Amino acid sequence: MCCESKRRFLLLYATQKGQAKAIAEEIWQQAGTHGLEADMHCISEMDKYNLETEKDPVVIVISTTGTGDPPDTARKFVKKIQDKTLPPDHFAHLQYGLLGLGDSEYMFFCNGGRTVDRRLQELGAQHFYDTGLADDCVGLELVVDPWIDGLWLALKEALQLQKEKESMNSAVDAFSSSISTAPHPVHELKLSSEVQNLKLEDDGARASDTLSQKLDDINLVAPARDTEPSLVHSVPPVSQSALNIPALPPEYIEVEFLDTQGENPHLSSLFSEGTTFEVPVTKAVQLTREDAIKTALLLELDIADAAFEYQPGDAFCVLCPNNVTEVEELLHILGLSEKRDDFVCVKVKQGTKKKGASRPQHIPERSTIKFILTWCLEIRAIPKKAFLRALVECTSDAGEKRRLQELCSRQGASDYTHFIRDSNVCLLDLLHAFPSCKPPLSLLIEHLPKLQARSYSVSSSNLYQPGRLHFVFNIVEFPAGPSRPVSRKGVCTGWLAELVAPLLHPSKNSLDTKGESSSTGKISIFPRPNNAFHLPADLSVPFIMVGPGTGISPFIGFLQHRQKLREQHTDWEFGETWLFFGCRHQDRDYLFKQLQCFLENGTLTHLKVCFSRDSSTAEVAPPKYVQDVLRLCAKEVARVLLKERGYFYVCGDKKHMADDVSDAVVDILSMEMEADKLEAMKILAMLREEKRYLQDVWS
Ligand code: FAD
Repeated sequence: MCCESKRRFLLLYATQKGQAKAIAEEIWQQAGTHGLEADMHCISEMDKYNLETEKDPVVIVISTTGTGDPPDTARKFVKKIQDKTLPPDHFAHLQYGLLGLGDSEYMFFCNGGRTVDRRLQELGAQHFYDTGLADDCVGLELVVDPWIDGLWLALKEALQLQKEKESMNSAVDAFSSSISTAPHPVHELKLSSEVQNLKLEDDGARASDTLSQKLDDINLVAPARDTEPSLVHSVPPVSQSALNIPALPPEYIEVEFLDTQGENPHLSSLFSEGTTFEVPVTKAVQLTREDAIKTALLLELDIADAAFEYQPGDAFCVLCPNNVTEVEELLHILGLSEKRDDFVCVKVKQGTKKKGASRPQHIPERSTIKFILTWCLEIRAIPKKAFLRALVECTSDAGEKRRLQELCSRQGASDYTHFIRDSNVCLLDLLHAFPSCKPPLSLLIEHLPKLQARSYSVSSSNLYQPGRLHFVFNIVEFPAGPSRPVSRKGVCTGWLAELVAPLLHPSKNSLDTKGESSSTGKISIFPRPNNAFHLPADLSVPFIMVGPGTGISPFIGFLQHRQKLREQHTDWEFGETWLFFGCRHQDRDYLFKQLQCFLENGTLTHLKVCFSRDSSTAEVAPPKYVQDVLRLCAKEVARVLLKERGYFYVCGDKKHMADDVSDAVVDILSMEMEADKLEAMKILAMLREEKRYLQDVWS
């Protein structure tokens, strides 16, 4: 058939941590089974594709990073399409479908994808398929899987339409200009994708994997007495269903054991983000009392000998290793304990079917196994379905095999969400739950993402204490649960807490930050670029800071800086400063009682504090949360923002806090300006645009 000759589409991905790339690769792989061919490129490889002349449909998978920015790999592309001189029909010839990835815990959900989508629309490009926005907070696959399912039909229709258009073009060339450029009817994305063909989607799978799984196998994982499903047990209908399981991802990594010895690579070689600095930790103070719900620590780093510069408000990244016990456990389960210090060479498997296969950048070509598991792989990552699918092949017990198949199948989607994603199950939990599963190291390298450096806001000023950098964090705690027999601490915060334990004792329970200065281990850090969260350049304008919990951290740096400037320049004019701080209990987690000093020496003009869990005997209950206190100061907040063109900063570890604060600001603006809510929202948007309303929010 003539239409069969034209079945190519362009597939672009813009990835920060590898997720968008992995999804694009899945699309690329599935394309073949639908009789289509994807020409896949990273969006940064602008010499390999040309959207200006592209005639075939384009599929874009793009993630979001930072505070709603497109990934670094998309920066050049975004800059190019943002060019204001481009005409509105610049991409009128283009048909595209876009899948945005994001995390609704962060501000500006999926903004990377939305930005590109919006701009392509402005430039006349047309959707051949509805945009999908996948949320990592609830599980990317909830949108990604049905989006990919629906993509094939939409692509085929788009290719067909394009073909008809082309033949019409050549037939009535003289009238080509009159051919309508109206958008094609967009193929609707049905999120509730129905499973129509109950067949195994894995071409390479053996008969034993299939739907004809014997009932006695099923009974192994779901004994009659178990009516409740769990990570290892399934119940009908899943346990009796034929399964649609994903295609087995092609292996592409080979690990060769070397006889030689040597040195592991330097940590900085694993990070392309910039120079890393190894700096001593010189002080550690526990800011919260033992009975506080969360434990907050302040650490001091000696950066005097490092060419590391920062401004108050900056964040930086800490390179952290995986937990030693977990690495040892993993080595034991993989049967590699004896070989932990052996050097291996990691390379691409010859003849692999994976397109464009290359050794992941975060894996050194030559290092010890222990080094790879300690510094390179996020071993706590929630295993993706493709990983589960690959693990099936490494599992000898038939019951365990079946359950792993279920968990990666379409029929087991809600089990996956419940028992794996929502339970934050990691590889180690899986290997405990499925003891006959013995994956090779190469599989871990193929499927586990890069161990990410963790970001922290600087909580000091280089003017106030030159050569020193402070930061504050809560030790993240994950309690034990049905899928995880032991409690765990956050990878980085747990490691830091252990590292500084010897330093911590002298000043335990102390709520001020003065402590004996000594030194423990060193940690590696590097700057986190692209930050707008800085003090106003004009010192005379007022500003408001809102930072509950550890969100106060950067504001300590702001205030230290301001105090020093005031001391050094007594004749300068300084605008007023407001700080809204909140915590649970006044006597347990009021992190910085030194705020009072800033108030007394005039650095801080107004300090507003609230305690959400302290009981009160007052007739009128005191405000609980920062947004409540803000509302009480509505007139002043409006004056600072509207009359005095001041700045408003929000920092904290929860997106809903930032949302509550911005809702309060909208209410304040609307009330004080006697305008409706929409008008107030527009003003807030304008403040954001002018970078006078700034947020630094993490989860
Ligand atoms: P991780 O091990 O990475 O776990 C953290 C998250 O992973 C949890 O919240 C949870 O969602 C998930 N998770 C992983 N495993 C489990 C499990 N078994 N059970 C349940 N959930 C699980 N933090 C601060 O404390 N202070 C700061 O000043 C600060 N500044 C930041 C600035 C920026 C720009 C950014 C992006 C982040 C900032 N953070 C800050 C957050 C910080 O980077 C880390 O995310 C945080 O310290 C946790 O790291 P971790 O390795 O200890 O935890």
